[in-house]
This record gives sequence, C-alpha cells and structure tokens, in this order.
Amino acid sequence: MNYFRKSIHEMSGYVPGEQPPLGTKIIKLNSNENPYPPSPKALKVLQQIDPEMLRRYPDPTGKSFRIAAGKALGVPDDWIAVGNGSDDLLNLIVRAVGEAGKPVVCPSPTYVLYRTLAEIQDAEFVEVPYPDDYKLPVDLLIAAQGAVTFIASPNSPSGTAISVADLEKLAQDLSGILVIDEAYVDFAENSALELTKKYSNVIILRTLSKGYSLAGLRLGFAIANPTLLAELNKIKDSYNVDAIAYAVAAGAIADSDHKTANAEKIKASRSQLAVIFKELGFEVWPSQTNFLLVRPPNGDAQRIYQTLKERGILIRYFNQPRLDDKLRISIGTEEQNQILLKTLKEIL
Ligand SMILES: *Cc1c(COP(=O)(O)O)cnc(C)c1O
Repeated sequence: MNYFRKSIHEMSGYVPGEQPPLGTKIIKLNSNENPYPPSPKALKVLQQIDPEMLRRYPDPTGKSFRIAAGKALGVPDDWIAVGNGSDDLLNLIVRAVGEAGKPVVCPSPTYVLYRTLAEIQDAEFVEVPYPDDYKLPVDLLIAAQGAVTFIASPNSPSGTAISVADLEKLAQDLSGILVIDEAYVDFAENSALELTKKYSNVIILRTLSKGYSLAGLRLGFAIANPTLLAELNKIKDSYNVDAIAYAVAAGAIADSDHKTANAEKIKASRSQLAVIFKELGFEVWPSQTNFLLVRPPNGDAQRIYQTLKERGILIRYFNQPRLDDKLRISIGTEEQNQILLKTLKEIL
C-alpha cells in the first residue's frame, strides 16, 4: 500500500553527510562546517537570552537580524528575506516556481538538494554537465530555459569559482529566475551580490553555516529586490526561524572581523594542503571554498574513504558518476589537517 504521491514514493530523498553525536571522538571533515568556533560576540548574545524571548513567537520577518545583515552587506533590510538555513530558502524558491512543465535547471555535478527539491515538486529537472575544467556552460544553461536556474558559486563539490561575468550573462539572457547560491562566498575572491541591483530576476543566497561557524543554528538569507522576495515570504512558514537564531545570528554577522580572520586561516591551510596533496600524487581542483575536491593516485577513493572512516576521520565520498573516483575533504584546524595527512600517508 502506498499512501503517498507517486513522485514522493519513487524518489530516493536527499542523503546528508553523516553527523555523529557530539562528543564522538572523530575528525569530522565531511560537511564543510567551519572548524573554528563562532564569534564570541554571538556566544555572548546566546548566554544572555531573555526567557521572555522564548515565551513569545519570534518576529516573522526577522527585522532586527535583517537590519544587522543589511548593514554588514550594504543592502537595505527590505532586500533581505530569512530562512531556516539557506536550504529553507531553496525549498521556498522551488515551491514558488516549480511545477510540471517548468524546468528547474542547474549545472552538474553540484549541490544535490536542487534535484531533490525539484523532484518533490514534480518539476522537470535539467542538468547541464560542467566541462572538466568546471567553466560554467553558459550557453547550454540559457538554452535549457529554466523557470529557475541554480548556480552554486563557488560550486560544491568541485570547490571551483564561477566568473561574475558568466553569471551576469546568465542573468541577462535567462527568462526565469537565477539563484546564485553563495554558501561559500566567505572563502572566495568574488561575489555576484551587485547583480541583484541590476537584474530583477537574480536571488543571492547566503548562509551563516560555513563562514560564520553556525551550521547548528540554521540561519540563511536571500538578497533580491523586494518584489521577488514578497512572493517567497507569502509561502514561508510564519515562524520559520526561531528567536534564538535571529539574536545569535545578528551578533555573528556584525562581527565580520572574526569571520574574516577564520576564513584567512582556512584559506592558508587550503593552499598548504593543496600543495601536499599534489606531492602525494593527488589531482586537486582549484578551490575557493573551505574544502578540496581531490582525486587519489589510483582513483581508489572509496577505499580511502572507508579506511579513513575506520580510523576516525570522516570525509565525503559521492557514489555517483564523475565523482566516484574523488573525495571531498573539508579544511579542518591545523591539528586536524596534520592528522589527516599523516593517516593518508599510512594508507597510501
Ligand atoms: C552548505 C550548503 C548550503 C546549505 O546551507 P544551510 O544554510 O546550512 O542550509 C546550501 N548550498 C550549498 C551549495 C551548500 O554547500
């Protein structure tokens, strides 16, 4: 007996990275979390939460957070909409736009959730393969005529950057919405934020999960013109973000020095790790994120993933075409990176 919609029954569902319980003695380099703690200013807000804030419902639109985020980014607060992580906003966008006959388009391989959300919505899902150098296939993406086109910029799991000029060409020539998912922007050289002012079909997504070390808090936000955001706000849960998340996130986003200092440490480790991986015979993709995509010498990625797991180090292995000979490894603390390298050398 199947009680559910055919498409739901038949889809496989998104599989997140393994999340072992807190306190498990493990080096966790599989979900691109920031290895450094959140801003002390955010933690201070957390310690001073007024119980009255818990008794009452939160502000549905998170005005005080939007003001803080707007100040940090130099955009008006009514150009910002909030989500329970940027995953929530991705979901809202697909729900608002996707239906049968309205294609959801993205280059591939990329963040797998885009596909899952399209499947839930019964929207047609079109993947345009990235070439091996991961340059954005702009013309093919335009030809796919997406009602919504998702570009993770920088991309995951490749870690590669995408040129703002290419994104601008897409914004100009697509008739549908262009979503630029900037989850890793804090580790990148460029942002496409300015495109939101020039093109009425562009939505930028940001999250506090990676750059701000707050993946557990669940706070993401969209930047776009208020007319676009009004449609998304219509369908969001009234209280999709909790009061604690708003308060802590406002503290975190105001402390850009803390975020930048951590990002600098991670970028330095990223460069060092890339050099060493190459010396060990790995192919390494140029990363502007807090992770590296690497191909081990014999492509025996699955064995290395398994062996590292047995030794208490979690990295990400994707058992799918084009990725099943590669590994995605989040950048850890210096100490974690050294243990990873030492263990890898033993395995090889
Ligand atoms: C991590 C990630 C997200 C999800 O971020 P949350 O705000 O934690 O939901 C979205 N897009 C990409 C490409 C990511 O890597």
